[in-house]
Amino acid sequence: MGEAKRKQQSGEYGPALTAGVRRNVAAAVPTLTGAKFEALMANLFAFAESTFASPAKDPPRRAIACKAGCAYCCVLYVQVTPLAAIRLAQVLQAMDPQARAATMARVESVYTRVRGKDAGARNLLAIPCPLMVDGRCSVYADRPFACRGANSADVEACRAGFGSDHGPKLLAYIHQRQVFAAVGNGVAQGLRDAGVQDDLLELVAALSLALAHDDPLAAWRSGALDFSSARCLEVAKQRASAR
Ligand code: SF4
Repeated sequence: MGEAKRKQQSGEYGPALTAGVRRNVAAAVPTLTGAKFEALMANLFAFAESTFASPAKDPPRRAIACKAGCAYCCVLYVQVTPLAAIRLAQVLQAMDPQARAATMARVESVYTRVRGKDAGARNLLAIPCPLMVDGRCSVYADRPFACRGANSADVEACRAGFGSDHGPKLLAYIHQRQVFAAVGNGVAQGLRDAGVQDDLLELVAALSLALAHDDPLAAWRSGALDFSSARCLEVAKQRASAR
């Protein structure tokens, strides 16, 4: 099957996925507190993973090379929605005190080094994500959609791009990227429909802001947690030029 045909086929379900997630998120946001929020995020992750796990019409052409302990991509610029940032902050806050303190210290340390850096600069710096421990994601069950969609069929390409000025040139499995991107887009659009902050955020900056609150969900809902300064650079530039 040609690449164009494969992309077209993979993209067929993207708009429908996004629309369904968008409706669910927009309906859930007005009453989103405590357990409802946890259930929403768990359902979104489960839905995205089950959709990804049913790729019969679009199998990978090459075996996926990604495996536990391989983390070349965990130095890249990661975009998250406010919901994802809040969920990750909750997960970190629920860790045992020692792990929590160590992770929060790493978040702040990494933030001081990557603040204001774009994707290219981040790749050159190759500073590990503060949520990575011993080469593994410490929040794997709650990792962002962008991380779930990242994949490679060639670990040598990942190695060659690590810390380089051109970044990794990945032979990626399109189905995986598109499923998780479609769900992530649906979350952002649902937030917009619900009239709340919907900007895509830079992961480390957003975590730094969220972790300053004992209850980041309540703080976000009340307006005490404002993610504006964590907007990803493209969004920040668009906002600035629109003024
Ligand atoms: S959240 Fe997890 S998977 Fe994503 S970049 Fe960080 S360590 Fe890697």
